[in-house]
Amino acid sequence: MKDLLRPGRMWRTGLPLKKRYDVVIIGGGVQGLATAYYLAKNHGITDVAVLEKSYIGSGGSGRNTAIVRSNYRTPEGASFYQASLDLYDDLSAELDFNIMLTKRGVLSLAHSERALATATERASVNQKLGIDSRVIGLDEVRRRVPALNTSDDVTWPVMGALLHPGGAILRHDAVVWGYGRGADRRGVEIHPFTEVTGLDTSGDRVTKIRTSRGDIEAGTVLSATAGWSSGICKMVGLRLPMKTYVLQAFVTEPIRPLLVETVVSTQMRLYVHQTTRGELVAGAEAEPYPTYQGRSTLTFIESISRYLVELFPAIRDVGILRTWSGLCDVTPDYSPIIDRTPLSNFIVSAGWGTYGFKAAPIVGVTVAKMIATDRVDPLIEPFGLQRFTTDRLVSEAASAAMSH
Ligand SMILES: Cc1cc2nc3c(=O)[nH]c(=O)nc-3n(C[C@H](O)[C@H](O)[C@H](O)COP(=O)(O)OP(=O)(O)OC[C@H]3O[C@@H](n4cnc5c(N)ncnc54)[C@H](O)[C@@H]3O)c2cc1C
Repeated sequence: MKDLLRPGRMWRTGLPLKKRYDVVIIGGGVQGLATAYYLAKNHGITDVAVLEKSYIGSGGSGRNTAIVRSNYRTPEGASFYQASLDLYDDLSAELDFNIMLTKRGVLSLAHSERALATATERASVNQKLGIDSRVIGLDEVRRRVPALNTSDDVTWPVMGALLHPGGAILRHDAVVWGYGRGADRRGVEIHPFTEVTGLDTSGDRVTKIRTSRGDIEAGTVLSATAGWSSGICKMVGLRLPMKTYVLQAFVTEPIRPLLVETVVSTQMRLYVHQTTRGELVAGAEAEPYPTYQGRSTLTFIESISRYLVELFPAIRDVGILRTWSGLCDVTPDYSPIIDRTPLSNFIVSAGWGTYGFKAAPIVGVTVAKMIATDRVDPLIEPFGLQRFTTDRLVSEAASAAMSH
């Protein structure tokens, strides 16, 4: 108890690696840590090691733009992400750590009749599930976002929007740290700078996990490695229907309040929101070519700035402070893969593309349940590997490709 109260300590450091654990989680991002947390909290499974090749939160979890929302296109997607948002609502109290969640809403602009039709379809799916989501006309768009250029004098004039008041932004690092601290306090071991270099199999099991700090064994192995999942799965001979791309974002200097909602334009391939500190955080769609090269590019800044200034002329002189990028693992239907595999003790959570941060709480709960009870929660049943061979894709391209 005394140790737990040491000020400033998030989790124990310098722990030796044991020879065996009940569960080994590869990947110290938000999803791996959330799963570790709920394994301990909901199921009393604490003989768990989280292995992270770099620092905790060094992957997409520390690089995302922290938009959480549930206005997806399919009933499967929308109910899954809404269950995650419900958990986010109470997460500060749950973790005793302020995740700074603010429900500002998400406004997805429509620049064509076609986009309005898609927005209407999404709104009706959402409303059937009790998710607050509706199509609004140009007058309401103008009232909500006075800084937006709604004239005809732009490349693609705005015609209306899909409004999702339940969408929010939060402090992404706080979620990572909160889950890490919560898991550690329940006995889970967190091992940063411990790279998994190989997985040995025998029959239908993973028998050995080779790491940069020695070999270990585990009852169950979970890969929660997002953009690196293809490489990890290759170690056991499993090929995932997935490609890895790079996604970029930037942040400007702080300015006076300009935006309440996150504004998304699929047509212009951009989204932007304003942090509580006043900075504008903006991003685009993932780069169109698969790569593991995480460099920021001038082309990205040029194209996104051009359209941002067209939409918000008032920001033309605002300076960009930083840009960064991260890896995104994208499946053909833009939905995740959360499933057991032909190896009986190897589970995969992958295919998180540009939208996996918001899913972490519900992934944590349902994957922990899968590991502890061998039961698949109905919420994640549609996201199994089998859907790629049984023609049961959960197509979220229209609602996930751009808007995170
Ligand atoms: C610029 C950007 C903006 C985004 N915006 C949003 C957003 O607004 N909303 C949203 O919901 N999502 C967003 N995303 C997507 C989101 O960040 C990811 O889907 C999410 O963080 C995935 O979490 P994870 O824990 O599965 O993976 P990660 O956080 O990527 O963690 C995987 C970890 O595995 C580790 N690892 C890899 N290989 C090994 C190995 N061999 N051994 C040990 N460890 C290994 C990596 O170092 C990494 O830390 C964005 C992503 C980016 C890049």
